[in-house]
Amino acid sequence: MSTKTYQNLIGGEWVAPRSGKTFRNVNPADHRDVVGEFPASQAEDVALAVAAARKAFATWRLVPAPKRAEILYRTGQLLAERKEQYAQQMTREMGKVLAETRGDVQEAIDEAYYVAGEGRRLFGQTTPSELANKFAMSVRMPVGVIGMIAPWNFPMAIPSWKLFPALVAGNTCVIKPAEDTPLSTYNLVQTLMDAGLPPGVVNIVSGFGPEAGAPLVEHPDVRAISFTGSSAVGAMVAQRAAATFKPVSLEMGGKNAMIVMEDANLELALEGALWGAFGTTGQRCTATSRILLHRSIAAEFTEKLVARAAALKVGNGLHPGVEVGPQVNEQQIATSAEYVAIALAEGAKLLTGGKALTEGDYAHGTFFAPTIFGAVRPEMRIAREEVFGPVVALLEFDTLEEAFAIANSIEYGLSTSLYSRDVNRAFAAIRDLEAGITYINAPTIGAEVHLPFGGVKKTGNGHREGLGALDFYTTWKSVYVDFSDRLQRAQIDNAE
Ligand code: NAD
Repeated sequence: MSTKTYQNLIGGEWVAPRSGKTFRNVNPADHRDVVGEFPASQAEDVALAVAAARKAFATWRLVPAPKRAEILYRTGQLLAERKEQYAQQMTREMGKVLAETRGDVQEAIDEAYYVAGEGRRLFGQTTPSELANKFAMSVRMPVGVIGMIAPWNFPMAIPSWKLFPALVAGNTCVIKPAEDTPLSTYNLVQTLMDAGLPPGVVNIVSGFGPEAGAPLVEHPDVRAISFTGSSAVGAMVAQRAAATFKPVSLEMGGKNAMIVMEDANLELALEGALWGAFGTTGQRCTATSRILLHRSIAAEFTEKLVARAAALKVGNGLHPGVEVGPQVNEQQIATSAEYVAIALAEGAKLLTGGKALTEGDYAHGTFFAPTIFGAVRPEMRIAREEVFGPVVALLEFDTLEEAFAIANSIEYGLSTSLYSRDVNRAFAAIRDLEAGITYINAPTIGAEVHLPFGGVKKTGNGHREGLGALDFYTTWKSVYVDFSDRLQRAQIDNAE
């Protein structure tokens, strides 16, 4: 079968990149399976896409918000019809098991319905004026052309978190999908167009970060950048965007702690740990990558967790019964292997896994065995740095305060979790854990679209997706209407 070649979407037209260069998108479970050829775009392609978005902004911003929202609602309906097809294609391009890629498409459906409701809200404020016969209010205005840069681990959900609120607010967009997962962004944007989105309102330039992402960040007509990815790249994006004073929303890495107290339902905690650490092959920003165990239950918990992790079925995410798919590419395998070596050198104890799987059914993919390290101390790199693979570190503690101190001792602050039956401990965790998200009696993963999503410290720069995204995609305008029919000076200009 010949490989399909995809093009950029610019002004409603599918166009080849100016350079003619493309790159291959391959199935991480079997590299012989080529998903497609995609444009390796460069600055000139980005410039064309930004010009198209700028042109479309002139009319899109004037479409009533409830009408814009109806397109999003229809998009949600179409995504629901296409869920299985898009989930299959997503598993093929990035590896996670089918149940999870169905969930990824579902997240986009949920986001569509949630944001569609905002079309009839987009609330501003009315407030009294300090002068008589004068009316004061604030209204939300669109920002303009938004540049969006996405990661590969939630290839439809994350673009939907960015595109839908930006669109309902009247912005136009240029999105650069991750190089490992462009197809899912194409599927999402094709659905928007099938739902009635006018040409040029969303444009796609696929390609690599330095060639296609950086020019988007630097382009003077792009008014804001929404970035999700690693903290290292996020820092570069923020620095480059500063030159043109662009607001930047950064959603970045995590090293998420689950704390298990001695009064926890241990069976529930075990189930949560397994899912939190090895769901999406550990490649979630919210993955449970540190498990802090109360010393009195640590031995029993560790033994059971190791047995269950070793029994997980690793394989092609399209095959029934598979629980853990491949890592997305060779680079991610190399990172997991590198951290195994670092942890061993630091004195951590390898309890299961620890190596790439390369034999038999695994020979043509990028698979890594679910890996657990015991005897981890808080100062070790394996306890502090993001691996972004199926690698989890177990630490022990004696008191709740000590657990909080360990959990908070790192640079990241995305998600945290506490397993305990004690309501006082639960509320202390909600108050004292330094993170954007805290779960009680659930693992560190499982966010819902209508709550704020994001983190503190090295994880984010204060913005939120979900509830709060509209604050990034709109700018406030204050409006004063004077109906006194005379010049009224403001109070500051009237002072005696
Ligand atoms: P990454 O930082 O390598 O890449 C993210 C995106 O940035 C890609 O589209 C890439 O092409 C682009 N990029 C790379 N260099 C660039 C440059 N110089 N200029 C502009 N763009 C550039 O991250 P990744 O490997 O795709 O994703 C994994 C990371 O994303 C992890 O750290 C994970 O924690 C994080 N993540 C965070 C969230 C969140 O919401 N907090 C969600 C998912 C993933």
